[in-house]
Amino acid sequence: MNAISAVAADISARLPGLECRFGEMMSGHTSLRIGGPVTAMFLPKTARQLQSLYSMLSERGVAPIVIGNGANILADGRGFDAIAVKTSGVNDVCLAPDGQIRADAGVTLRRLAVFARDNGLSGLEFAHGIPGTLGGAIVMNAGAYGGQMSDAVSTVRIMPRTGGADGTREIDSAECGFEYRRSRFADGGELVVSASICLSRGDAVGITARMEELAGRRRSCQPLDLPSAGSAFKRPKDGYAAALIEEAGLKGFAIGGARVSEKHAGFVVNASNAEFDDVLRLMESVRNRVSELFGVELEPEIKILRRDANGGARLWKF
Ligand SMILES: Cc1cc2nc3c(=O)[nH]c(=O)nc-3n(C[C@H](O)[C@H](O)[C@H](O)COP(=O)(O)OP(=O)(O)OC[C@H]3O[C@@H](n4cnc5c(N)ncnc54)[C@H](O)[C@@H]3O)c2cc1C
Repeated sequence: MNAISAVAADISARLPGLECRFGEMMSGHTSLRIGGPVTAMFLPKTARQLQSLYSMLSERGVAPIVIGNGANILADGRGFDAIAVKTSGVNDVCLAPDGQIRADAGVTLRRLAVFARDNGLSGLEFAHGIPGTLGGAIVMNAGAYGGQMSDAVSTVRIMPRTGGADGTREIDSAECGFEYRRSRFADGGELVVSASICLSRGDAVGITARMEELAGRRRSCQPLDLPSAGSAFKRPKDGYAAALIEEAGLKGFAIGGARVSEKHAGFVVNASNAEFDDVLRLMESVRNRVSELFGVELEPEIKILRRDANGGARLWKF
């Protein structure tokens, strides 16, 4: 047994109700359906389990791979000698007396948007079709159709690596370092545990109509029938990544099983059993070609987790 599996086994023994799967494939937990085995994956079901787990990992100096819905992650097919924590089972949501929504990190944006609508609250319509969890969406400052998470989040409860009095600490939205598809959490180190969402009063019929309209727009222009992680690249300063990729003639361009979507040039899809390297090489080729033609350096939006020399997971950047 190596050091990482010993840590996982020890934590498992100390937190007996907490589900732990050894050798779990990341491909089963990423929307691209790519990624090899992790030494162990914990799947907490309560905020208490999640916090105890994270603080035990911190005490042992282990930085986990945190996964929400894996809708923005490209994971190395060789797998990782690492511990993954999947938060999507921690998903309570309620309306607080102050009128704000309090939700755990693992609640899906879809459920959160429906909960808001059912309580006559408007402002999360944009998020209804984004296939992520609240935690992942805060980390990414996810957004669409003119809205983004930073517009709705008022406070975030986090767990710093070093821990606090009860292990958690609440910070204001202004402290989250929200930028376009980025936050202070984007490079890892802090766990998003839960958040408060502040919305305005709205009419359920109008909210539903807006959600349906946006869902229709997604269906008409996004390749929702194939595995992907959404837009592969961030929007550059001027213009759109998809428009540049299309103008470069790269729609349908493929390497191995990975392909630039014919329907939406901003999406890289897993068209047929794509491997990690296929996607990575495809993204690199697209990036190089766009740079040669237009002098624009596209920055990946997808979080790329690469196996490092020790078998650990490293956030990889072009
Ligand atoms: C078909 C499709 C359409 C999409 N459309 C959009 C869109 O319109 N707009 C948009 O912005 N995105 C879009 N995405 C991308 C993706 O849905 C978002 O980035 C989403 O917010 C990711 O959430 P997640 O829970 O899946 O995060 P994950 O992919 O699991 O994680 C993303 C990052 O956040 C970290 N993380 C996750 N949870 C936590 C936590 N609790 N604490 C600390 N770190 C955490 C992970 O380690 C990782 O670095 C799309 C993806 C797909 C597949």
